[in-house]
Amino acid sequence: MSGNGRTIYIAGAGIAGMTLALALAKFGATVVVIERQPHVQEVGAGLQISPNARRILNRLGLDKALNEVAFEPSGIDIYPYGAKRPLTTLELGPVMRERFGASYTVMHRADLAQVLYRACKRFANIDLLFGVRGYDVVSHARGVSVTVDESDGKSRSARAFAFIGADGVHSRTRTDVLMGKDAQYSGTVAWRIALGKSALANMLPADRTTMLWGPGYHAVVYPLPQRRQTNVVMVAKLKEDAAFSAKPPKRPTLPWSMFPDPRFKALLEAAGDDWGFWPINTVETDTLSEGSVGLVGDAAHAMVPFQAQGAAMAIEDAAILAPLLMTEPDAASALTRYAGLRKPRLEQVRKVSLSNALAFHLEWPFTIARDSVVRMQGPQGHLKRLAWLYGYDPAPDPDLPAAPQRSSQGHS
Ligand SMILES: Cc1cc2nc3c(=O)[nH]c(=O)nc-3n(C[C@H](O)[C@H](O)[C@H](O)COP(=O)(O)OP(=O)(O)OC[C@H]3O[C@@H](n4cnc5c(N)ncnc54)[C@H](O)[C@@H]3O)c2cc1C
Repeated sequence: MSGNGRTIYIAGAGIAGMTLALALAKFGATVVVIERQPHVQEVGAGLQISPNARRILNRLGLDKALNEVAFEPSGIDIYPYGAKRPLTTLELGPVMRERFGASYTVMHRADLAQVLYRACKRFANIDLLFGVRGYDVVSHARGVSVTVDESDGKSRSARAFAFIGADGVHSRTRTDVLMGKDAQYSGTVAWRIALGKSALANMLPADRTTMLWGPGYHAVVYPLPQRRQTNVVMVAKLKEDAAFSAKPPKRPTLPWSMFPDPRFKALLEAAGDDWGFWPINTVETDTLSEGSVGLVGDAAHAMVPFQAQGAAMAIEDAAILAPLLMTEPDAASALTRYAGLRKPRLEQVRKVSLSNALAFHLEWPFTIARDSVVRMQGPQGHLKRLAWLYGYDPAPDPDLPAAPQRSSQGHS
């Protein structure tokens, strides 16, 4: 399939922006990605990449490169507050691959970003502009006019088929171009830290993920063996003034009960004060697009990370939007169809993330009912309960054209 001479501008070289660039380049589009940072962002921490996202990345030809940076945990041990043994171990590993046709892995966000970046660099039809100082977009009947202030102070103006904001939770495309809402503070913050491989060796298994549930907070821990690290994230409720104060807390401030949980305690002792701090903001907007301007990833739908699906949704967005942008007669109709296909799914994922937030952070005695449900569902309960999530595949959708089979090398 030819690119139809279509040029698409994308703001943001994050997971959403680079996945979309790759998906579009496979269809032969000319893609210009504008990123305000001077290079691909090394920020972030571990990400769980579930089969619904991994399947798409594999189809983009990234399977081998991802295997080099990813780890496949055998399961997820869940410990309610104070439990000596896991309440259950949710099976991952081969069970996920057999059931959903793609693996459930963990990797560092920076490694995923590098894999995407290297793949983008192999396409002559993807132009990545870093250090961009600003941009303006004007939508008109047959596309957009874009002006970009480049890193060297020069300005480039162009007409394009569409402009897509993949510029993250505080997206300028959403607030300034589409006049959409600001992000909202979710009432929770995340602390993240990468510990040395051996820091938790006596406490937690090295072949799987551990989840600790506490009253108003939880922790997720998994190994990143290629980096010789253990990724730790703690999520807790925090009042807005504390979350956005000039001096945010240096380490998780957890309200201890009279009976401290030894695992949480040991985790905090092992980690010290070197945590990264993230107030978690969310985006709820009805406007995923207007005319030839659209949104993908966190810019469109940042959500709380309790189902670990933010990046996965960004990757799904790209898989759905790219073929529509390349085959619909105009960008406005492509973006309208994209929004129609995405909204129900995003709503479903947002709901499950929010209900997990309630369940993970329950206090006694409500934990009793929660724990008995989890016990009853057993180690494979999540496969059935979340089949709609992990089994999702945009490709069989008869409404979507299939990507042509091309390798990126063919475009170098
Ligand atoms: C604690 C925590 C844990 C998480 N765990 C998971 C997980 O396990 N699995 C999962 O799938 N998701 C997870 N997520 C969510 C995931 O990190 C995000 O959803 C995902 O990274 C969003 O990618 P994005 O490309 O949309 O945005 P971003 O990664 O924010 O990228 C946006 C890009 O746009 C650039 N940009 C911004 N403004 C401009 C501008 N004006 N001009 C040009 N460029 C601009 C930025 O520099 C950046 O490079 C987690 C989130 C948190 C907070």
